[in-house]
Amino acid sequence: MLLEVKDLSVHYGVIQALKGVSLQVEEGEIVSLIGANGAGKTTLLQTISGLLKKSGGDILFMGKSLNKANAKHIVKAGITQVPEGRHIFPEMSVYENLLMGAYLRKDKDGIKKDLEMVYQRFPRLKDRLSQDASTLSGGEQQMLAMGRALMARPKILLLDEPSMGLAPILVKEIFSIIKDINAQGTTILLVEQNAKMALSIADRAYVMETGNIVMCGSGEELAHSEEIQKAYLGG
Ligand code: ATP
Repeated sequence: MLLEVKDLSVHYGVIQALKGVSLQVEEGEIVSLIGANGAGKTTLLQTISGLLKKSGGDILFMGKSLNKANAKHIVKAGITQVPEGRHIFPEMSVYENLLMGAYLRKDKDGIKKDLEMVYQRFPRLKDRLSQDASTLSGGEQQMLAMGRALMARPKILLLDEPSMGLAPILVKEIFSIIKDINAQGTTILLVEQNAKMALSIADRAYVMETGNIVMCGSGEELAHSEEIQKAYLGG
């Protein structure tokens, strides 16, 4: 098992946002997490990344507890998050943003190679390397955020709402890129409002409601479930 979340609880003051969440991600999988606004999906990703403190439970990565790891250790261990809303550095160039993704690395040759890999995957970024990131379109900013995350050479990529605010054609493109990234060996944990797309690319998926996991299954099983169709697929 690559990532194992066990009985995880997280509080914001007196509000309990995660109420004993357990999930697993195996190496090589795409696992999607769907659920309504406020279900706790972002909270879960932020806690895995070490940006929020848990109040109970455990997170294991490659069999080891992340209990004592801070956000930096967690990136070094191989977990990188692409946050909701992208959070690129607007006043830096595209190139500088990409390099920021590698700031914990010292292997210059590896960084160079990975830059080439990112240019290949996102040719649109390559054409805009010296442009201020703030001037990119929404879709390009999402690509930049993903490219920057790949520069950390993660074993698992945590994607929070990558399709948010994008036109349908770009949503398709982003999902196809996610599939490619996975096919080349990076495991994916994907949080998405677009349940249809998220289930269509998922090996397995979890459904969250008000701080709990309420269902899990293969992407296909969940896409065909009557309950899921009613609640999340408008069917
Ligand atoms: P969305 O799809 O809207 O982003 P989500 O499933 O990601 O929703 P979270 O953002 O994780 O949900 O929020 C889970 C719960 O925790 C919500 O009830 C939210 O109001 C609450 N919450 C999130 N951040 C904070 C915060 N900083 N302080 C207090 N409560 C918070």
